[in-house]
Formats: sequence, C-alpha cells, structure tokens
Amino acid sequence: MLQVSESQVHLGLSAPDKTEAIRIAGRAMVDCGLIDPGYIDSMLGREAVSGTYLGSGIAIPHGLPEARDLVRRTGVVVVQFPQGVDWGGGEPARLVVGIAAKSDEHIAVLQRLTGVLGDPTEAARLGTTRDPRAIMAVLNGEAPAAPVSEPVAVPIDGDSIAVTAPSPHGLHARPATALVEVAKRFRAEIAVRHDGTTANAKSLISLLRLGASGGQPLTITASGEDAGAALQAIRAAFGAGLDEPVTAAAPAEEAIPRAVPADLDYDGRVIAGISASPGISTGPVWKFQREELTVAEAAPDPEAQHRRLDQALAAAAADLRNLHEAFWKKAGAAKAAIFKAHQELLDDPEMVAEAHALIDRGKSAGWAWRAVYEERAGTLAQLADPLLAGRAADLSDVGRRVLRLLAVVTETMAALPDHPVILLAEDLEPSDTAKLDPAKVLGLCTAGGGATSHTAIIARSLDIPAVVAAGPSVLDLENGRAAILDGDGGVLVADPSERDRGRAAEARIKVGERREAERLDRYKPAITTDGRRVEVAANISDPAEAVQAVEAGGEGVGLMRTEFLFLQRDLPPDEEEQFAAYRTMVRAMNGLPIILRTLDIGGDKNVPYLRMPAEGNPFLGVRGIRLCFEREDLFRTQLRAMLRASVEGPVRIMYPMIATPAELERAKAITEAVRRELDVPRVELGIMIEVPSAVMMADRLAREVSFFSIGTNDLTQYVLAMDRLHPVLAPQADGLHPAVLRMVERTVDAARRAGIWVGACGGVAGDPAGAVLLSGLGVTELSVAIPAVPSVKARLRAIAMADAERTAREALDCADAAEVRALVRQRFADAGGVS
Ligand code: PEP
Ligand code: MG
Repeated sequence: MLQVSESQVHLGLSAPDKTEAIRIAGRAMVDCGLIDPGYIDSMLGREAVSGTYLGSGIAIPHGLPEARDLVRRTGVVVVQFPQGVDWGGGEPARLVVGIAAKSDEHIAVLQRLTGVLGDPTEAARLGTTRDPRAIMAVLNGEAPAAPVSEPVAVPIDGDSIAVTAPSPHGLHARPATALVEVAKRFRAEIAVRHDGTTANAKSLISLLRLGASGGQPLTITASGEDAGAALQAIRAAFGAGLDEPVTAAAPAEEAIPRAVPADLDYDGRVIAGISASPGISTGPVWKFQREELTVAEAAPDPEAQHRRLDQALAAAAADLRNLHEAFWKKAGAAKAAIFKAHQELLDDPEMVAEAHALIDRGKSAGWAWRAVYEERAGTLAQLADPLLAGRAADLSDVGRRVLRLLAVVTETMAALPDHPVILLAEDLEPSDTAKLDPAKVLGLCTAGGGATSHTAIIARSLDIPAVVAAGPSVLDLENGRAAILDGDGGVLVADPSERDRGRAAEARIKVGERREAERLDRYKPAITTDGRRVEVAANISDPAEAVQAVEAGGEGVGLMRTEFLFLQRDLPPDEEEQFAAYRTMVRAMNGLPIILRTLDIGGDKNVPYLRMPAEGNPFLGVRGIRLCFEREDLFRTQLRAMLRASVEGPVRIMYPMIATPAELERAKAITEAVRRELDVPRVELGIMIEVPSAVMMADRLAREVSFFSIGTNDLTQYVLAMDRLHPVLAPQADGLHPAVLRMVERTVDAARRAGIWVGACGGVAGDPAGAVLLSGLGVTELSVAIPAVPSVKARLRAIAMADAERTAREALDCADAAEVRALVRQRFADAGGVS
C-alpha cells in the first residue's frame, strides 16, 4: 500500500499562480525520485486540457497519460500553500497533491483525500497545519476519513449493468470525470457499486471514494425514465475506456463465449490485461524463459574467476551504456531511463564484494554472482512496499545480463516444473505456445501481445485460459507465488484470498456444467428457432486436430492454417511429408469438408529458414500469397501435396491475403498448372477476405471462386489501421466495429450476386455477439476454435435469424464496437447474451 513519508510533505510554501505551484510540486516529485523532470511539462499540459482542482482547497496535478514513461515510480507529494493559489475553481487551492502514477497504487491515497473533501473544516485544517504528520495521518489512512456529507443516490429497483474499472489505472480522476459527464446527461438517478460501497455516478468525489482499481468489477444501477438509455451510454463509455488511452479489456477474438459474467471481485492484487482465452485457474506462477543459464558451482582458480567476474561486470555495464545511448537517440530519455537505472543497480560495491568473497571460498564466478543477486532480488521481492518489491525484477534482469556472460547458455524450451503452473512471459512466439503441454500449463499470462495474436489463438485452441497485455508488472511476480488466472475477466490475481479461491473454484464448476450441457448437444446442427441453418466448422493448425474438430461437433474444417506445419523446424516439409499430413486430416474428416489454406507466412509468423529480409511493416509486407509468389517453389510443392490429398475427400483450397484480382488470377493459374501435372479432378477454390481492397473488389473476385471466408482478424487490423499485435491499439481493434461489419455486409452482397457462399474464420466468428451478427449479415459458415464449436452452436440454436438480421442492420448504424456489443446484449439478453 502506497504510503506518504515526511519527506514527501512540504509545508508553508507560496506561489504567485498555479503554474508556479505545479512547478514547485513537480520539482518536489523529482527530488523524491518519483518522476523525470520532463514530467513537469506534462503536468502543465494536463492542466491546460482539464483543470485538476478537486474542491475544498485541494488540487491534484498530474501528467498526461502519454508521459507515463517519465514516471519513475508511483507516489505522491503534498505541497501546502497556506495563502492559497488561484486554481480557477473559485476557492484557492491550499493543498496541492502532485501525483506520479505508474500503476494504480495511488488510488487509495486519492480515496482518503476525498474523505477530506467531504469535510471543509478538515480540509481547511490540513491546508494550514504546521504538522506534516497531520497530513500523513489522513493520507496514510491512520486518521479516520471524514464522512461524506453529500447525498448518495441509491436506486433500489433500477436496472443494472456490470462493468469493470478501466485498465490499468482504475477509476481515478480522469475516467471518473468522464463518467460523471456521461451520467449528467441523463435525468435518471445512477449509482455505482463497488465492493459494498455505493457512489453517486454524478459526483466525482463520490466516485473517487470507491477507490476502484483497474479491472475491478463495478455494478451500475439506474432508475428513472431514461435509465435504459443512461446505462447504454455508460456501457459504451466504459467500452471506450472512459477517456483512458488504453481501453478496458476488449473481448477476445476467436473467443469462446464467456460463461461467467465479470462479477468476481477479488481480494488479492488484481493485474488487469485483455481476455485472450476463457476459463479460470488457480495455481503457482512460473516465468517462461527461452534460455537456460548453467554454471558450475566450484572453480579451482580464484584468480581467473575474479578476473572473469570483473570482465563480465564491465562488459554488462558497457552494454547498458550503449543501450542507453541507442535508446536515447531512438526513443528519447524516458524509454532510455531503464538502462540508466540498471547501470546504477550494477554499480553496487557491496554486491560485487560479496560475489568476490564467494569466489575466494572456491565458487565459480557465475555461481557466486547468481547466488548474490538472486538472494538480494528475493529479499526485495518480499518487501511490503510494492515499489521496492518492483525493483526485484530489475535486479534479476540486470543480474541475468551479467550471468549470461559467465554461464553456458542453452536455448531451450523453458524447463517447466513437474507440477502445473500459470505461465508468465513477456510475450510468447507462436512456436513457443505450440510446444506447450496443456497438462502442465494452467494458464498463460503475457505482459505484451494482443487478443488476435497467434499466441492467443493457440491458447484458445488448447483450451488454456489466457490473459495478454497485462503489462510488465506480471513479470515481477516470483516463481511459485499463488495466483488466479481469470481468462474471462482478463485479469491475473496475485496472492488470492481463501474467498477468491473459493469463488474461482465455483466459477470453474459453473463453466464446467455449461460446457458439459453444450457438449452433449454438440452434434445437433445449429438451426435457429425460425429454421435457418448456419454451419459451424473448426479452425485447426495441426493434423491431429482434425479428429478433435469432428469430435467437438465441427461440421467441417473451415480453416486449416497450414503454415504451422512449417514452424519450429530447420527446413520446410517436403511434398511427401505434407501429403501425408493433409491425407491424415482428410481421412479424419470422414467425408466432411476441409478447407486447406495455402501458406500464410509473414506478418507475425516468421520462418527463419526462409531467410526473408526483415521488414519495417511486416503486416504490410511480403506475407501470405505474396510470399507464395516470391517462393513459387514452396507454393507449388504445397499445392501438389494438397491436390494429391484431395482425391481422398472433399478438400477445398483457399488463398490468404488476396488483395487484388490479379493476385487471384495468378494463384489460380499456378494451381491449375499443378493440377494438370497431377491429372487430378478440380477442387473448389476460395479466398480469404481479409484485406479492404478485396472487399471493394469482391464483385469481381466472387466471379472467380466458389466461396469467400472472411478473416476478421486481419480485416479488422487493416480496416481500422491498428496492428493486431500492438500493445496499446490491439485491445481497441474489435472486429465488431461497424466499419468491419459494413465490410462484411458488402462482401456478402457481392457473393450473393455471384451465387457463392460466405464463411468467416476470424476470431469474431467464435465470439457470442460476433456469431449472431455475422449470421445476421448473411454469413452461412462460422469456423471457430475447436473448444468454441459446441457453444457457438448452442448460441445459434437459441436465437431467431430474423432477430439476428434486424440487429445486424442496426449494428451497421452504430458508432463503435462498444455500442454494437451493447446492442447485441440488449436484444439477446434472453439467449444468454452476455458476451
Ligand atoms: C484472419 O485473419 O482472420 C484469419 C483467420 O487468419 P489468421 O488469423 O491466420 O491471419
Ligand atoms: Mg489472416
């Protein structure tokens, strides 16, 4: 819990105006090591955008979100101006609380501050006190906060919605202000409930008092004639992130319908990310590392070991200096600062002396160094102060940098312990994830990544709960620490309480029961209540998955990502190997159709042995069909194998990333030439619709193929111009954005005119709202992750197509994805419409 120390409280200052007051507060923050000096400009910038006067003589200047990199650690300083400073808010500000927020630990301090706001007498006392401990007592929660005198509206019989406080920083001043602004547009009484406390949604102070951290659940209740509209607008505002630069968790692409509404509130430390694969699990965490560093314990030659350690330390320091310089030039002081901090950590004479002492006792340089830094990092991690505990990760990082120079480095699949764990990683490459043994991995949580990254896709196909984009703090957790990974809520909960564990277990049981019911009905077709059928097929990436697809109730394979046969190896598979793989799948399908997509390498699927030049914008570069043209040898080999397998069953061939009619013509010509060589019957040919130009040319393209399959993952990133892996943008790249839905509408229209069918195999097809809307727009085949097949079928069986069509038409006119999701929820509440 963040605490304010005496050195952070400055009494009896004066300033001619608020600019100077902010500068004074900013300098105090620099002196306490909270921020880099550049952050002060950002604080002034924030003030220009919106004032930070709270009321009762208190102001809370802080920087703009873009400047978070300049925050060194989360904390506050309090500067008292007994004469008052005009803050443009009527009364002068006497207490100026400068906030540096990297994460949400400062929320509790803000919450206590609002206790003072409710009591003008107390605020006035703190604004003039000569005793810093009086201020500390209130902010550190030692003195009871004064009761809030304003009335809080608590509608009794109103409608409610469940939302979560914006990630990652919670309901702090800016999002709370945004919420108040929305709430005030309506006459309804609106209350926000969190953890047993209720706030008036039209009162900033009241909202701040909730102290809701990022990702925590909130219930919003409204009563009055425009209550419904108010709740819809509020849900949309939360969906858009409440004015926060990073939006609240967006629903996962290719998601499995969420069985558990996000109504779990946790006692443990909640780290919010993006839901990437559903499910909930409890267990110890484990950090995934791709390399293993091995050192011998003993070394007979202390002199040589002393030298080795000194050399390694000097080399690591030089490395850090170079990195600092390079980053400074490329990305500015803020991004470079971490390397400076690491240099400081390395430059610790005590630590170095201890390591040398161990060498004198016969240990090797590597062993000695590792013993010393791991012991220190371990001690730091135990500290109650989260900021100090956070330094443990830095120390481990820098320690490891030195150790690499002293150890035998083996590139490995990280050795997992012999018990199941929740895996933590910076990010996982598709090949890492593909190697995971689901029996040993309870869940995945990555600091980076996005919901449509292939890591997330594979986690879903393995049915492992996953949370991505949780931020670097997940890597601060030491191995073995207990956690809950809530893939539905998109959060990792460290140090869960007994109550947390109990509720997680209950949620797991509920999910299990629902899934079991759906599983029993998995072979029933997805026929809507008004008699319209939608085919539900599966996405696979491995020959063995074909059987699983059929067993899960899949009515075919709508997408086989063949590129996965090319990953994790040193040479591409030859024709025979590919033929064997495709034939296995075709046979396993037992007469059901299978769509084999030709190689879609490039973008985030890198195949080192192809030695393709590195690209500045890999998603806009030589990927998919473009690469097949560059490497026609690979393309022809693959087509030969596919066409040979097609003799065994209904194979369809699909080309990825088609952007122009000319590309389609070329791909078809090559396929036809290969077919003639083999002298086998023609197969149905189709294309992925995942590039906006293909949508715009869909009328022409439709004349040349038997089917379209819409790849919403790529289509979304290209339509919205948001990289599907971008750590900040990916959460907003929601395939239910009306811009994407309009593309779908246009595609279906062109296909209908040409008399061909349209499927969808991107993530949105498996999303409960997406399945309804795509069907309503005329998509007749949904290809989804294997575990999602039964639930998507169940979902479609519960609705009427006429309703889906009507809703889809309305969705096209919505302003954004959040509005679309709110609309679907509203229309399909009876059909388990929580999405
Ligand atoms: C898509 O882009 O939606 C798709 C299904 O292909 P991939 O995710 O493999 O790029
Ligand atoms: Mg794609």
